[in-house]
Amino acid sequence: MDLSWKTAGACRWVEPELFFPASDADAGPAKAVCTGCHVQERCLEYALANREYEGVWGGTTGPERRSILRRRRSTALTA
Ligand code: SF4
Repeated sequence: MDLSWKTAGACRWVEPELFFPASDADAGPAKAVCTGCHVQERCLEYALANREYEGVWGGTTGPERRSILRRRRSTALTA
């Protein structure tokens, strides 16, 4: 699996703890970093593919990623 995109992440200079907030309500600062990240889409797809439900990836929280996966499954079933 190619993970080279990680070296281009806007979070590479940020304390990793920021991306594991105490609650989703505290995820704003991490999401703000993701907003300016050039590999946001790849990061999000990686997290979705690997069922990463902890922390902020690709500008989303774990519950948001679960929601994306549910929507995709639902769309696939009705297509
Ligand atoms: S999208 Fe966010 S978590 Fe992913 S590499 Fe970029 S800054 Fe880091």
